[in-house]
Amino acid sequence: MSEFQTVKNSKKKVRHILALSGGKDSSALAVFMQGKIAGIEYVFCDTGEELEETYEYLHRLQDFLCTKIHWLKSEKDFRYYLDLYNGLLPDAQTRWCTRMLKLKPYEDFIGEDPVISYVGIRADEPYRKGYVSTKPNIKSVYPIVENNIRLEDVERILEESGLGMPRYYDWRSRSGCYFCFFQQKREWIGLKKHHPELFERAKAFEKFDSDTGDRFTWNQGESLDELMLRSESILAEFAKRTKREANAFKAHQKLKDVWGTDTDDTDSLSEEFRRL
Ligand code: SF4
Repeated sequence: MSEFQTVKNSKKKVRHILALSGGKDSSALAVFMQGKIAGIEYVFCDTGEELEETYEYLHRLQDFLCTKIHWLKSEKDFRYYLDLYNGLLPDAQTRWCTRMLKLKPYEDFIGEDPVISYVGIRADEPYRKGYVSTKPNIKSVYPIVENNIRLEDVERILEESGLGMPRYYDWRSRSGCYFCFFQQKREWIGLKKHHPELFERAKAFEKFDSDTGDRFTWNQGESLDELMLRSESILAEFAKRTKREANAFKAHQKLKDVWGTDTDDTDSLSEEFRRL
């Protein structure tokens, strides 16, 4: 008997939880699951550093689902943890932002209850393996994969529901914090264009120690100011790459996965757990 079965067989009621990221895949999953599981709980872990579009979209999703989304938030904010980590900005290796602002509030919400966690990984994302929980009381399931739902189906589900796609997809490929270090360089340029004040806020977190020469920047080896100086060439390279990809895509269906431009949910909790 698995550890989850043992927990499930305790007297506690099994909870069904779907963690939303504010991205398209977990949102489409929520729409897809509507009416299928009684008492399913929807949660969103708010880092406090999300885009306005994300909040707006989640409110619309909540109205659509006619069910409250539990808004989870760490007691301490990003700035508190940044100080705690001596000004060391999070990156793909340390990922303290995820641990402290996403996972902890989520695990606190779950406690020791047996939970079935609904994960919004698509059938056309073979490189995303999903969340293998270290907590024995959490079991992940993948309804989108099981139903062979792919990117075009996600888009259709959201279109037909009337929700459409979150607005930030016009210039960004993922959900998540406005300063997320996973964003592509052209998305930083998009941030400056669409949210200049947030771009300035992200910039203000970067630090340079003239005594030691240490640089704390969002991108390795380059500050946001330096990146902006290259914005024309970054955009030109992106346009070239997109064209190459479109041509190659006809010959090789999987190439889009290499660029990852359709990958969603930086903060799908499934992804967060997986990456840690
Ligand atoms: S979206 Fe990016 S910056 Fe925000 S918590 Fe997730 S990994 Fe960290």
